[in-house]
Amino acid sequence: MSIKADDDHNPRSHHSVNSQSPNSKLRRFEERLRHQQSQLEHSVLTTVKQGRQEVAEDTLDVADQAVFSYQKEMLFTQGTEGASQLALVRLALERLHDGTFGECLHCGQPIGEKRLEALPWTPYCIECQEKIETGQIEDMVRAA
Ligand SMILES: [Zn+2]
Repeated sequence: MSIKADDDHNPRSHHSVNSQSPNSKLRRFEERLRHQQSQLEHSVLTTVKQGRQEVAEDTLDVADQAVFSYQKEMLFTQGTEGASQLALVRLALERLHDGTFGECLHCGQPIGEKRLEALPWTPYCIECQEKIETGQIEDMVRAA
């Protein structure tokens, strides 16, 4: 007589969203970064493929070619932006594993939590980001 053990379906792994545990916070960032990474990888790949297809089209009249080169440029921009964001996401994942995630790459100060929530892949605190944008310091990631 086989009675199915029916009492083992209580969810044992109820991961508590406890703000006291820094690890669960990091895990959430990791999940978001991995999600972002796969989306970016997909879109960069798609962009590259589309770019290749359009290069193959060389039997166009002049007007079409103008439109095409414009589209190609757009795709190129999207592709490079996607690729550089992808580099930031990868860097953030590396830093998660190094234990340096959340520290500004330039000054070493903690990046604000709200900033990380909004941009988990950012390697800089808001002050350094502003200095980069105004050219006061060099963007270490893009320079690399
Ligand atoms: Zn900083």
